[in-house]
Amino acid sequence: MRIAVLNKDRCKPKECNYLCYRICPRVKTGKETIIIDEKTKKPVIIEDLCSGCGICVKKCPFNSIVIINLPEEIGEPIHQYGVNGFRLYNLPTPRHGVVGIIGQNGVGKTTVMKILSGELKPNLCQGDWDKIVEHFRGREIQNYLEKLANNEIRAVHKPQYIDSIPKYVKGTVRDVLRDRDEVGNFDEIINEIGLENSLNKNINELSGGELQKLAISACLLRDADVYLLDEPSSYLDVRERLNLARVIRNIRDKFIFVVEHDLIVLDYLSDYIHVIFGTPGAYGIVSSIKSVRVGINEYLSGFLRSENIRFRDEIKFEVREAKGKEERKITLKYPKFEKSYDGFRLHAEEGCIRIGITGILGPNATGKTTFIKILAGVEKPDNKIDIKARISYKRQYIKPRNIIVRNLNLRDEFIRKFNIEHLLDRNLMDLSGGELQRVAIAECLSRDADIYLLDEPSAYLDVEERLRLAKLLRKFSTDNEKSLLVVDHDILLIDYLSDELMVFSGKSGICGNASRQLDMREGMNLFLREMDVTFRRDPETGRPRANKPNSVKDREQKKSGKYYYI
Ligand code: ADP
Ligand code: ADP
Ligand code: MG
Repeated sequence: MRIAVLNKDRCKPKECNYLCYRICPRVKTGKETIIIDEKTKKPVIIEDLCSGCGICVKKCPFNSIVIINLPEEIGEPIHQYGVNGFRLYNLPTPRHGVVGIIGQNGVGKTTVMKILSGELKPNLCQGDWDKIVEHFRGREIQNYLEKLANNEIRAVHKPQYIDSIPKYVKGTVRDVLRDRDEVGNFDEIINEIGLENSLNKNINELSGGELQKLAISACLLRDADVYLLDEPSSYLDVRERLNLARVIRNIRDKFIFVVEHDLIVLDYLSDYIHVIFGTPGAYGIVSSIKSVRVGINEYLSGFLRSENIRFRDEIKFEVREAKGKEERKITLKYPKFEKSYDGFRLHAEEGCIRIGITGILGPNATGKTTFIKILAGVEKPDNKIDIKARISYKRQYIKPRNIIVRNLNLRDEFIRKFNIEHLLDRNLMDLSGGELQRVAIAECLSRDADIYLLDEPSAYLDVEERLRLAKLLRKFSTDNEKSLLVVDHDILLIDYLSDELMVFSGKSGICGNASRQLDMREGMNLFLREMDVTFRRDPETGRPRANKPNSVKDREQKKSGKYYYI
């Protein structure tokens, strides 16, 4: 079976004058393998006639065609976004408890969530609910879809994108959430999610994290049978992510589906896992349902055992001894310093940056970005400090105008591995969040400097891009003997990357304290004790896993003070 997908945004027939049509060998022999749609004026590739030669794929100047030969047994076609559009195969299995969904960007996770919430009617089963339900006869999903169609179950959905909420929701946090409180556990949810100090704020003055917590609370306050949370951890710090996971785990006897790219959070909150694999933008296949540990390990290994499918190479997670201090030369020493804004004060202990990677962990609004800006020379501390090292800085909030594309002179390998080559001709303003993030990181690393400062590089990246980023940063630091400082809330990324840690603490929005550089064990122990969570390592892959609260391991490790397990 062959599928042909055209990215209609990229395709510009006016500029290439239908090159795909003109060079197609089948068209030349008189077969209508490619026709021109009268309305859209875009080419349409007829899959049944296409020979799969791949010439149009190679020649298209805009990289807008994908042609893929699929194995026969991939599953049930569910939905397709129009002719030559993205296709989804199979649906997840609804189970009481938390079903986690993992996969790259563009493989159909949001599409699945929209189908499960009833917002999108799958069209490859003729778009008729009776037929759709019939199609899945005898499976758990049949019962689910049937009830959804008959309004016997109610689904609520936290969408992936929350930035536009202030455009259509007005008022204070309290008023907006009170309106949605159907279960009567307002105070409980607000306290657990951590919105109690934001209740009087107006929606249009919320930070990204507050907006995310508002959207999640608005969903959980509803009396529903199904809760669908699409990427709930974006903009949240580690404590907020863990609290969120605990709140979700405490919901009983409901169907809960969560799409998440933070592997520690996904692992911690899920009872089951579905992997979605395929080619981004072209097709996605939902795997069978798996236990959490097996699902995440198979995802990392790139091989699904019950399907007997390899969908990519293994992502290895070798646990590496962090390099000791003595082995790493010093690139910068700085004295202790202070920085105060109206209402906020940062105190940084004196520190010493060495070759290698320093991970930076800490709650939102405790001054991490302020600290980075001071090292970068973008902000001045209250007491003058002297920074002699050459610095390259990637901001948390990326402005396309700060990216200088001609700086991108990285060795080819880097560009290839980070998958940005095809982005370089596009207008920076048109890139998605993840694409812009990748370009900004690459540009930062392209500059010649002694110290590289990366503020929240995992934001908008999917799980695979995060793992690739982790490997690339390590290689960059080792090969070039540079210092990197990385602020991030993805503990797996920080754990994998770091030779040492800085931990920020304090009262969000009021005061912050930056520790000196700590070794991994000391830093992680300090941070995790503060978060009240213990970690073990998965014996098969070496990846860190959060212990379930009050489990035997959790209690043992807390008692012996070993929050972080090496
Ligand atoms: P994910 O959530 O895994 O990133 P999505 O389900 O959002 O993936 O999208 C899967 C693919 O379907 C993407 O290539 C996207 O461009 C395409 N797509 C999503 N919504 C539409 C739509 N309304 N019309 C056409 N294509 C769409
Ligand atoms: P983090 O990166 O840890 O989330 P930031 O360094 O961005 O924290 O911010 C710390 C605190 O300082 C926040 O309360 C923020 O509102 C405040 N702040 C940051 N920059 C400014 C500024 N230019 N003027 C006034 N307050 C600021
Ligand atoms: Mg910040």
